[in-house]
Amino acid sequence: MSSANPARVTEVELLAIGAGFTGIGLGIKLTRQGFHDFVILERAGDVGGTWRDNTYPGVACDVPAHLYSFSFKLNPHWSKIQAPGAEIWKYLRDCVTDEGFSDKIRLNTDVTRATWDEDARRWLVETTNGTWSAKFLVTACGHLSDTRMPNIPGLDSFPGDIFHTARWNHDVSLEGKRIALIGTGASAVQVFPELQEIASSVVLFQRSAPYFFIPSGKHQAFTDAQRRLFERYPQAMRDVRAEIFWYSEGNFPPRIQVPKLLEKARKASLDYLEASISDPELRAKLTPNYEIGCKRILGPGRFYATILQENVTLEASALTRVEGSTVYGAEGNGYEVDAIIFATGFDATEPKFASIIHGIDGESLAESWVDGMKATASITTPGFPNLFITNGPNTSLGHNSAVYIIESQIDYIVDTMNYIHSQGVDTFETTPESEAAYVDSVAARAEGSVWLAGGCNNWYVDRRTHRLTVSWPDFAYQFRQENAHFNPAEYTLELSQ
Ligand code: NAP
Repeated sequence: MSSANPARVTEVELLAIGAGFTGIGLGIKLTRQGFHDFVILERAGDVGGTWRDNTYPGVACDVPAHLYSFSFKLNPHWSKIQAPGAEIWKYLRDCVTDEGFSDKIRLNTDVTRATWDEDARRWLVETTNGTWSAKFLVTACGHLSDTRMPNIPGLDSFPGDIFHTARWNHDVSLEGKRIALIGTGASAVQVFPELQEIASSVVLFQRSAPYFFIPSGKHQAFTDAQRRLFERYPQAMRDVRAEIFWYSEGNFPPRIQVPKLLEKARKASLDYLEASISDPELRAKLTPNYEIGCKRILGPGRFYATILQENVTLEASALTRVEGSTVYGAEGNGYEVDAIIFATGFDATEPKFASIIHGIDGESLAESWVDGMKATASITTPGFPNLFITNGPNTSLGHNSAVYIIESQIDYIVDTMNYIHSQGVDTFETTPESEAAYVDSVAARAEGSVWLAGGCNNWYVDRRTHRLTVSWPDFAYQFRQENAHFNPAEYTLELSQ
């Protein structure tokens, strides 16, 4: 991995922004195909995306690792069914070195602007470390890369330590401290038990009570014998993967409000709450007031057991203000603390990369998406030729592995490149009609789903228009069926001269 020369414009056929799961998977596929004219720009000092950034105590993936990894790069060495974050990060770094494309990655290279040059029919990409000219541009920036911090009056004057779960400050010891933990999403429930064990006290600010899926021992460690089996017989890994995939697909129908299935899922989760928390007053505070699945259903870990610990206070309201070292909930309760940890998630509906990408008429992607993200096949949009947007509109999943969607998008890109090379295509641009048809078809599927009609605020819905723009409202296999292959009929194509 090296640095670009800032003095000149470097030409490359395909430029990708981001060396997380998508950038790395794309790198593997392109390299294996013998396509070497590509470069991946990475703003940070290492690869790995969200798994590099999230190093909070307890970080792990609640999607089983044999599915939350590339089907074309299986790993027999996972220590547990649900892998710790550090292991996933190592897996991604190993992918780059094993597949031999680390020379294609430029670290510490933050893209500041990408502009379509209509005369040159290429993307001009300015970075903190030189300028690039590329025939094809891929945004591989991820949903979970730009942290969201709520605007809390008085926070600036807080004298203690403040950090976000995705920007953990390992120089600060939280041992024996009084901690406020803000949020009850997937990150919060993983870090919460770890903080409780070392802190003198933890006050958990819960704006919305979470639903949990039922503990299944899925975080169990693999035995050496199992790992040896996976190494010797890769088919065993493929079988495990297929089993988890189809089991997970079974969790989709409740999200489109199939009443019996919804009721079953809700009841199982509330039964688990009841079995875990005997105090009716506390249980009432921990009972969600929205439909199951409207927000991500969380891996239970030790959440309820931690709530019951003596040094824990549940503040069942939002953090609304800070005065000196006192943090206040919406109901006026104040707590003096030494540190505030924000587990408040990420900006996914209005991704930051959209404001730096400028298409044919100079308009940015963010301007073109004022009514929310949209794209044909969740990957291309009119006015932005030769641009692939990954992890963009309708590409997140609540019920299955995000890596499966990423693989489908990588396959779309590779398929498009093959088409372009074989047909002598210079530029491709999706038509407004194709995009509108896709957006309508997604909207029809989203209508009545738990994300839109479940009575909660979630990070999958665009606040400006109440459109479901982040989640894919269908089975995962259906995404692949529709969106893993280039369809020339959806494009205006210009041939090379
Ligand atoms: P998140 O799901 O967006 O959760 C943010 C939390 O902060 C919510 O509980 C939110 O409350 C709360 N919040 C925001 N402002 C607040 C305030 N002023 N006072 C109190 N609470 C406030 O973020 P996340 O937990 O980082 O997870 C984001 C995504 O990362 C997940 O959905 C998942 O896709 C991924 N993730 C996955 C895993 C895994 O194991 N697979 C682990 C971690 C993260 P409301 O609910 O009321 O908005």
